[in-house]
Amino acid sequence: TGKFFVGGNWKANGLVGDVKRLVSELNAEQISDDVDVVVAPPFVHLPLVKDSLRPEIQVAAQNAWVGKCGAYTGEVTAEQLVDLDIPWVILGHSERRNIIGESNEFVGQKAEYALSKGLSIIACIGELLEDRQGGHTFDVVFAQLKALADHISDWEKVVVAYEPVWAIGTGVVASPEQAQEVHAGVRQWLTDNVSKDVAAKTRILYGGSVSPKNAQDLAKKEDIDGFLVGGASLKGPDFATICNSVQ
Ligand code: 13P
Repeated sequence: TGKFFVGGNWKANGLVGDVKRLVSELNAEQISDDVDVVVAPPFVHLPLVKDSLRPEIQVAAQNAWVGKCGAYTGEVTAEQLVDLDIPWVILGHSERRNIIGESNEFVGQKAEYALSKGLSIIACIGELLEDRQGGHTFDVVFAQLKALADHISDWEKVVVAYEPVWAIGTGVVASPEQAQEVHAGVRQWLTDNVSKDVAAKTRILYGGSVSPKNAQDLAKKEDIDGFLVGGASLKGPDFATICNSVQ
């Protein structure tokens, strides 16, 4: 499945001073060359981070508009990210799906547009607690995946992040077995609905309360190809430990 991949999603955190501090922490950390590392600062900090972070760590936006530049107040387009040399964008994060109300179809359209402009995408999927408790985890995750797959023809620049919503920011991490079960299901879905080749090559990240303490055990699981880290990505040493957690 290629290199282990660790993304740091800073969400709407950090004033300029905090961001400068975090960048210098990250610049000072030893991180294995065997890991693809990407951090996603808030839009306003993208140029600062892009210009001050060492180039081995790539930069992502946390969202992008569904189409081209125009009269879309408050939005930022894929073209604008490409123009700034930002290679990655996170799409369909659960906070955008559940707080802002982005639908599966809208996220699929965003994926298509971002890929058409040359961006690489981290496409997020994941079930709510009530979905899991009702036994609907796979229904929800596969519906999210299908809406993406309907809009993706080339998976080369796609990373999938499985982030169960009940694990995000709660300290309740999925057990390695729980995460592995869904990751294996996602890979099987890709085999059945896209291709065996795409299933084998697409990295599937786990996200939700990943920490330096639990990362190693999760990373051992066969179908966990990396992490998308929220809270722990705001501390350079913790993030570096997670990046180096794969054996
Ligand atoms: P936490 O690591 O803070 O649970 O957040 C996970 C996440 O949403 C990453 O996108």
